[in-house]
Amino acid sequence: MSRFAHPAGDRHAEMLPHERPPLAPADLNRINPSIWPRTSSRAEGALTVGGVDVRDLARDHGTPLYVIDEDDVRSRMRDYATAFAGSEVHYAGKAFLCKEIVRWLQDEGLGLDVASSGELAVALSVGFPAERITMHGNNKSKAELAKALEAGVGHIVVDSYDEITRLGYLAEQLGKRPKVMVRVTTGVEAHTHEFIATAHDDQKFGLSLNAGAAAEAVRRILALPQLELVGLHSHIGSQIVDTAGFEVAARRLATLLVQIKDEHGVVLPELDLGGGYGIAYVDGDEAPDIKELADGLREIVAKVCVDAGLPVPRLTVEPGRTIVGPGGITLYEVGTIKDVEGLRTYVSIDGGMSDNVRTALYGAEYTAALVSRSSEAEPMLSRLVGKHCESGDIIVRDFHLPADLAPGDLIAVAATGAYCRSLANNYNYLPRPAVVAVSGGVSRVIVQGETEDDLLRGQL
Ligand SMILES: *Cc1c(COP(=O)(O)O)cnc(C)c1O
Repeated sequence: MSRFAHPAGDRHAEMLPHERPPLAPADLNRINPSIWPRTSSRAEGALTVGGVDVRDLARDHGTPLYVIDEDDVRSRMRDYATAFAGSEVHYAGKAFLCKEIVRWLQDEGLGLDVASSGELAVALSVGFPAERITMHGNNKSKAELAKALEAGVGHIVVDSYDEITRLGYLAEQLGKRPKVMVRVTTGVEAHTHEFIATAHDDQKFGLSLNAGAAAEAVRRILALPQLELVGLHSHIGSQIVDTAGFEVAARRLATLLVQIKDEHGVVLPELDLGGGYGIAYVDGDEAPDIKELADGLREIVAKVCVDAGLPVPRLTVEPGRTIVGPGGITLYEVGTIKDVEGLRTYVSIDGGMSDNVRTALYGAEYTAALVSRSSEAEPMLSRLVGKHCESGDIIVRDFHLPADLAPGDLIAVAATGAYCRSLANNYNYLPRPAVVAVSGGVSRVIVQGETEDDLLRGQL
């Protein structure tokens, strides 16, 4: 997953619960359209997504359950394809990948980024065209590189000197000539509105611009006739809501492009600015408008290249979270409700850090609501926790639920489409939940939930 820490923390951390703005019961029933899937609404008190009542989803498929609003995800794929027409949009598969998502990508005309031969296998298993796939990774094995070469992936983004040697050897052995890009660490790290544009070279990804490693990688690649160097790649962070960090990164990449032209007489035709575009997780979060983002990025690339006296390269972007994040929710059933006197109420649900590790891992923030009914009860300060043997097994640290909450109620957590199923694990031998796509009043399983037999498989 992303190399970037998410120091999101709790934006209300400095405020004691009683100091926060009071909530009305109506606020608890509200489905904020910028956070919840595009087709969500509350009908007769219960949430529907894709025209399906969440109570029916729970009854038919059980809980916990990942629910994907197909129309939402497909419409975001289309929005990207349209806004970035003339450029390449590669969905970053690590956000959430399965066969059905790959089919949607193909329908909607997007490319795909993979970061392992497992992800590559998912794509190839449903006939996704290999030339529209880019292979990433800081430690691709020889076997993975060989698979990528044999499949004929469109691009391989090289991340180290070792990899250049390995890839050069394998390409020669297999009689291939892959298109490669160099992953450049530009010294820009971005997160929401802030970005740091000092040397941030102390990390495992990429080849440093400042230290000259990127230029040296270019030299080594150009010395190998079996590799075709086509461009530079940079990925500056996650949950980014404006283009300021991309502008600094693009400017720095342009200086390297000029250096390459001067030193080697080579003009690289492609520039990949990575992904990292933010989505709204909680009230007040902003997500960049896709059209504005596309126009902004294209303008930046055109400007920095014209300023540097370079032809404008073909732009590639790699959105992950922003494609699948907002269209996904996770549905849970409420179990134990424990009032910790004078502090808050701990609401336990039937999943936890095995199906959503983001809060435990880096303090992610989420919106959750009672969704099997609406309620006029008073707000109750709550913490949504899982059933795992870790006190850090928290899904939502600090929020309000109606005080009449009861075991058996259904709670949904919004914006869980990205980096939840893909980071899911079997801690405490919990089976990973099914993924269900909803559209037009119909739900269908796109990834089966695991059973206990699945958990025991392979044990001797
Ligand atoms: C993770 C990643 C992305 C996608 O990031 P999002 O924050 O999900 O948009 C794109 N490109 C690369 C190289 C990545 O590692």
